[in-house]
Amino acid sequence: AKRSGKNCFRFYAREMNAQAAEMLRLDNSMPLGLANGDFYLHYQPQLDLKNDTVIAVEALLRWRHPELGMIPPDRFIPLAEDSGFIIKLGEWVLRTACMQCAEWQKNGPAPLRIAINVSGRQFSEPDFVDMVAAALSDSGLAPELLELELTESLLISNEQQALQKLQLLKNMGIFLAIDDFGTGYSSLAYLKHFPLDRLKIDKSFINDILSDPDDAAITEAIIAMGHSLKLKVIAEGVETREQLVFLEDRSCDEIQGYFLSKPLSEHDLHVFVTARLAN
Ligand code: C2E
Ligand code: CA
Ligand code: CA
Ligand code: CA
Repeated sequence: AKRSGKNCFRFYAREMNAQAAEMLRLDNSMPLGLANGDFYLHYQPQLDLKNDTVIAVEALLRWRHPELGMIPPDRFIPLAEDSGFIIKLGEWVLRTACMQCAEWQKNGPAPLRIAINVSGRQFSEPDFVDMVAAALSDSGLAPELLELELTESLLISNEQQALQKLQLLKNMGIFLAIDDFGTGYSSLAYLKHFPLDRLKIDKSFINDILSDPDDAAITEAIIAMGHSLKLKVIAEGVETREQLVFLEDRSCDEIQGYFLSKPLSEHDLHVFVTARLAN
């Protein structure tokens, strides 16, 4: 029994080593991947329910590894956060998204705001605000076409510093959203101190709004609270017409999800927006 226990341990140790090696390999190949153009953005449309118009897109990072194929962001972003490469990668996302959005502003079928995910490590960099300002001025993008999606944990880990940065960003005219709302810290006090524009209800609540009364109640409460704080409320992960109708009936402002569209390439987004305008 002792022996098999030891073998068992060896087996797990080997498994863990293989996993660690795989993670290290992924992490090490990110800088070259970025230099080689293996990272790119997809854009998922957001629908304004009142006017039934696409008003914005969320930029979502994609990585096609030359040997391993597509690596989902949920796998490589935590690695990039641990190693610090997220700072370079995040800057690339911001600059690329701003240039793309500026291009739509000039030549696109309709002006679209762009929402960008910001990681905690990136936001806590001392020159984060300067980096955003530079991305805006270099791309020529109007600040009101840029939105940053921030998580609750990122804001709460250093409230004073976060407040200062948010105020600077807000003064520049950028929009600020709380991503994955409802999944983070339970303290809501920060909502009244921070200069926010939008709450994004996490898709884990939207998933079961029609079958789970608790998720329905939480969603309703977030919409009501958001509105009394003068915030827009967007729901992510909307997959069915029934979910859309539920949200519309409760005055949710905007939706995003597979029901409207999955994240699209630049070209497919152009086709999508043009087709909607023609209808
Ligand atoms: P997120 O910010 O919560 O983004 C929403 C995720 O839900 C995306 O996954 C999107 O493709 C997916 N999604 C959209 N509509 C639906 C739907 O109707 N049903 C379901 N089941 N899923 C839907 P994705 O693209 O795999 O991204 C995963 C996470 O990776 C994002 O979650 C975000 O936290 C992170 N991420 C993606 N791009 C970036 C980036 O440029 N920077 C940073 N820091 N994080 C990023
Ligand atoms: Ca997001
Ligand atoms: Ca989410
Ligand atoms: Ca997220």
